[in-house]
Amino acid sequence: MKFEQIKIKIKNFVEQELYTLEPWILNSEWNEKLPKLNELREKVKSIGLWLPQIPKKYGGLGLTNAEHGEICEILGSSPYGLYVFNCQAPDAGNMEILIEFGTKEQQNKYLGPLLNGDIRSCFAMTEPNHAGSNPVRMGTFAKKEKGNYLINGHKWFTSSFDGAEFAIVMLITDPENENIHKRASQVIVPLETDGVEFVRNIQIMGHAGGGWESHAEIKFNNVIVPQSNVLGGDGDGFSIAQKRLGPGRIHHCMRWMGICERSFDLMCKRAVSRELADGQTLADKQTIQNWIAESRAEINAARLLIKDAAHKIDTQGAYKTRNEISIIKFYAANVMQNVVDRAIQVHGALGITDDTILAAYYRHERASRIYDGADEVHKSRLARQILKTYKSI
Ligand SMILES: Cc1cc2nc3c(=O)[nH]c(=O)nc-3n(C[C@H](O)[C@H](O)[C@H](O)COP(=O)(O)OP(=O)(O)OC[C@H]3O[C@@H](n4cnc5c(N)ncnc54)[C@H](O)[C@@H]3O)c2cc1C
Repeated sequence: MKFEQIKIKIKNFVEQELYTLEPWILNSEWNEKLPKLNELREKVKSIGLWLPQIPKKYGGLGLTNAEHGEICEILGSSPYGLYVFNCQAPDAGNMEILIEFGTKEQQNKYLGPLLNGDIRSCFAMTEPNHAGSNPVRMGTFAKKEKGNYLINGHKWFTSSFDGAEFAIVMLITDPENENIHKRASQVIVPLETDGVEFVRNIQIMGHAGGGWESHAEIKFNNVIVPQSNVLGGDGDGFSIAQKRLGPGRIHHCMRWMGICERSFDLMCKRAVSRELADGQTLADKQTIQNWIAESRAEINAARLLIKDAAHKIDTQGAYKTRNEISIIKFYAANVMQNVVDRAIQVHGALGITDDTILAAYYRHERASRIYDGADEVHKSRLARQILKTYKSI
């Protein structure tokens, strides 16, 4: 199938099958909506659109980062788009890691069922007691004993933990290594293992989602897994994390463009239809016109930046694209928040109800300026890179 055809088919699917379900989906518990979501996943498989981001060799559509970015914009316009096509975080990142670094045994046991949508997974790096922005200091340790790792530690914001089969856990395996970036490893921990303690699903802005929508606090109490569960090798934790995050940020940023376009559309529709006491509509007021013009310019600019970064990853790799990735991460997140906020303001009281999708966007996406690197961290990193060249003058 040609890429343009894939895009049209996916757009039709999202608009016809997902938009109509949203009011119910947004207000239902995970267990209630799971059968319907599974049904939709089977439908996506049957029409040959499953796993757009995965190489053909592994059963996906084999799209480039730039192409998959365009798909993420379409899927991102609905909260379950990525999930239904099996390209949602954190599973998508874990699939990428397993494809690139997994042994044959790890791939058979974990990657196959993940690709098929039979299981879900999570990624546990952030800790309540250590700053997650630069996670070189962590309190989760794995001691090596008789071919096993003995793991103790405390994590939180482990997204999608609830109901996941396994976690990829970032932990310290070599605390004495002089190179701080070689102290951590990524280890697969099946969540049924003795000593894995579920503490709670954390409430986010008043909502504690279940299943894929959960963000858990967890503890590892003397958890034992074989050393063969390490990904790559001992000490590769940070280099793998870097590889995982590059393409992941393109997907998130383009997903946000989907949210922007949907919010923009709702804002414009409301502006032309809401009549005021003076006989004019909201669209006749200059403040609203400014918001519409500014939003259009900001969305277009953000999309171009993201496409540029995606193209650079595809042609030069994620490492050489670090600056562009930092730029899009903070720029696109802020554009999205501005656009959603303006759309809510134009809707007045209606904007903060769950009668439109806008309040859900506002609630869920505030986090975008924090996860995958807070705004301030990306800006500081980018500025230091730029200033380096001036210091050598
Ligand atoms: C919805 C959501 C889902 C998440 N999912 C996962 C997941 O699945 N797995 C996982 O491991 N983690 C996950 N996280 C955690 C996320 O990666 C961290 O929250 C993030 O890395 C920031 O770490 P922290 O919260 O410890 O903040 P801290 O490191 O304590 O930083 C707090 C604030 O300080 C400021 N700051 C930090 N460093 C600097 C600096 N160098 N210069 C200037 N200002 C700075 C920033 O404003 C930052 O927001 C998730 C978070 C959210 C909100």
